[in-house]
Amino acid sequence: MPQDELQDQMLDVASSATIPEVPSVAGEDGIAPPLGDMSAEEFRRHGRAVVDWMADYFERVEQLPVLAQVEPGEPISKLPAEPPESGRPMEAILADVDRLVVPALTHWSHPGFFAYFATSTSAPGIFGEMLSAAFDVKALLWRGAPAAQELEEVTLSWLRQMIGLPKAFSGIIYDTASVSTLHAIAAAREGLDLRVREDGMSGRADLPLLRVYASEQAHSSVEKCVITLGLGQRSLRKVPTDAEFRMDPAALARAIEEDRAAGHLPFCVVATVGTTSTSSIDPVPAIADLCGRERLWLHVDAAYAGSAAVVPELRHILDGSERADSLVLNPHKWLMTPFDLSVLFTRRMDLLHRAFSLVPEYLRTLDREQEAVRNHSEYGIQLGRRFRALKFWMVLRYFGRDGLAARIREHCRLARLFASWFEAAPGWELLAPVPLSLVCFRACPPRDGETADECAARLDRLNEQIMHAVNASGEAFLSHTKLHDCFTLRLAVGNIRTTEQHVARVWQLLREAYERLDPAGGG
Ligand SMILES: *Cc1c(COP(=O)(O)O)cnc(C)c1O
Repeated sequence: MPQDELQDQMLDVASSATIPEVPSVAGEDGIAPPLGDMSAEEFRRHGRAVVDWMADYFERVEQLPVLAQVEPGEPISKLPAEPPESGRPMEAILADVDRLVVPALTHWSHPGFFAYFATSTSAPGIFGEMLSAAFDVKALLWRGAPAAQELEEVTLSWLRQMIGLPKAFSGIIYDTASVSTLHAIAAAREGLDLRVREDGMSGRADLPLLRVYASEQAHSSVEKCVITLGLGQRSLRKVPTDAEFRMDPAALARAIEEDRAAGHLPFCVVATVGTTSTSSIDPVPAIADLCGRERLWLHVDAAYAGSAAVVPELRHILDGSERADSLVLNPHKWLMTPFDLSVLFTRRMDLLHRAFSLVPEYLRTLDREQEAVRNHSEYGIQLGRRFRALKFWMVLRYFGRDGLAARIREHCRLARLFASWFEAAPGWELLAPVPLSLVCFRACPPRDGETADECAARLDRLNEQIMHAVNASGEAFLSHTKLHDCFTLRLAVGNIRTTEQHVARVWQLLREAYERLDPAGGG
């Protein structure tokens, strides 16, 4: 059909369709209420107020109780149950942040935050988040946000060089380490050519039990991954650790041999560099040897500790990791980057692509482009992706490798210093080595005439009480773990604002609590 004829026909269709009349939004006075966002002028004014608010917050955060002093349900009880009918001025909303939100927060930016793994946001990272929210790109394919895609490749190449991984690794950003590890194990499974992508795993008599190995000290996310991937908890075999909480490679070798003899299919080993309880470091070189021999995918979980490899004298913690198939590192933990930003490095991007690529017609791009670019949505579960690389790019440029290394080095020095006080003090003991910035310790005042069980129960109780006393002070927040079945206190240094004075203050709070709770043993 000639072009003009076609156009005539389309016009006919348009004019004969019943399109209802569109009412005007103008009121009786003929003036329409303003739509759209707040004006640029207002945006400037409130924006300045918010930045001022944040600067004040960082100045005063140390005066706030680090651990939220609220009961469950208390924050909800102060908020209206019904949605707002009409808009409210920004001033009122910001005032409610002070009134309702801040008191109900545990302040991760407090220099006395030593629980879990202490982490840090930073000014350049916050600016990156603000800009990223302004751009609001959905980096689903290259065309949708070329800078997001390419900044991600460049910053991750910088990070790769900073931690000394070979060029064969390329990186991709996900939200968290749990999700990075999920993608790594999915890629490992794809490499088995079992047609899991096409046929799934259910109802199949042809599949043996697939096995993933991780140490008893590995992060719980590994178990969540096997649950999520439909492998089942049964597929995860936990390998014993040595006296210093590191995976025992001989035990790993035996487990693999046993599983093969039983007809199972070993396919992936997760080694941890910096375990959650004690920051122990699995012997990755020996594990890599074994994975090489057995042809197993080696995934290194360095979510927390990997960042320390930017410090030249700590680079050795990643020895052996250059032979891994994948490695996860969380810049949102120890590289001064606001949550969330996790990096998965892998030398098998092809398998990640095979596992996750699915391109609907409306997302197809020109062949020329398709070949030249990497569309990150083809390498993971998500379609739309946040522009996370921007904040990381700003952090890396603002601090530089030197600046980041200096801060991490200082955190490690503070942890060693803190540990040295325990070694010298009677009635206290360290429960694990301190390779990085985490100290595991407890009070252990002796008492005569107790059985071993009585002693263990008494010390568990005492240390739990000491922890609650310190946390109730509002000046510091510690968390705990269990090591060899003993209640163990943990101090993790990782906040950009933490100084020697804060660490010394915890030591003082601990001794005061100890003397109060165990007057006989305290001294
Ligand atoms: C923190 C941590 C994780 C989980 O991190 P998310 O990013 O919160 O999922 C996993 N493994 C290790 C070793 C960690 O330290």
